[in-house]
Amino acid sequence: MTLALQIENLKASVDGTEILRGVDLQVPFGEIHVVMGPNGSGKSTLSHVLTGNPEYRVEGSAKLAGTEILGMDVDERSRLGLLQAFQYPTEIPGVKLGDFVREAAEERGLDLDEVDKRIAEAAERFGMTDFLDRSVNDDLSGGEKKRSEIFQLAVLGPKVAILDEIDSGLDIDAVRQVAEAVEAMRSPDMAVIMITHYARILRYLSPDRVHVMLDGRIVESGGPELAEQLEQGGYEAVRARLGIEAPKTPEPELPKASDFFTDTPFDR
Ligand code: ADP
Ligand code: MG
Repeated sequence: MTLALQIENLKASVDGTEILRGVDLQVPFGEIHVVMGPNGSGKSTLSHVLTGNPEYRVEGSAKLAGTEILGMDVDERSRLGLLQAFQYPTEIPGVKLGDFVREAAEERGLDLDEVDKRIAEAAERFGMTDFLDRSVNDDLSGGEKKRSEIFQLAVLGPKVAILDEIDSGLDIDAVRQVAEAVEAMRSPDMAVIMITHYARILRYLSPDRVHVMLDGRIVESGGPELAEQLEQGGYEAVRARLGIEAPKTPEPELPKASDFFTDTPFDR
């Protein structure tokens, strides 16, 4: 079986500070895996490093459908089939969603008849038909924006889709809708990695595996029951159970600039 994503001993540092400290993760095609962890545990860094943000010094291995991607540039990884949904989707007034996604698909070399078929199908499946002729993300609710992102991913059909906190800032009804959209995106040709801080989205979604990230490592993996345990005991209970001490100088949980600018494509 070829894995959609195979990560081995992945390390990443910025200015000599190690943020990812040896991540191992295997995600087969057709599965939805959730990566959970407290703020600052390195979840977004994992996503940045996989998509090719050049800010990090990276070691280890990450294979997409068997091909090593570390060292490739951002475009190359995306053409190979790695796509990330953004935590804060950008509004593009004047550009219609249908045209936008069609162009993105064309750039990726997809056949246009096939693209139109996929757009119609996915629009139906994700309830986006009425949005195709409207500007991208303009005047959409938080939940609709996230659904739009998932719709776009479904049309582009990556091999691996990374969703970083797609549930953040949503009320519980929107969380449920997004969860249902993620479930509807399931395909034997795609693996989904859903990164989240909160267990609540997992009430509406059945991931194949749940991984817990602490201090830059995946410290525990299990089935959906792991998320339930987390909802009850929190991450401190995981630390206690596994005997992992909290870092000596805990980071204050202040918002970082990067929390607000994850939409901005980084310098290439
Ligand atoms: P999470 O997404 O789990 O909240 P992050 O991956 O955003 O965590 O961050 C993990 C740690 O790495 C934090 O302490 C954060 O401040 C630090 N970090 C992440 N990216 C950078 C960067 N580009 N420069 C400096 N520190 C960073
Ligand atoms: Mg994050």
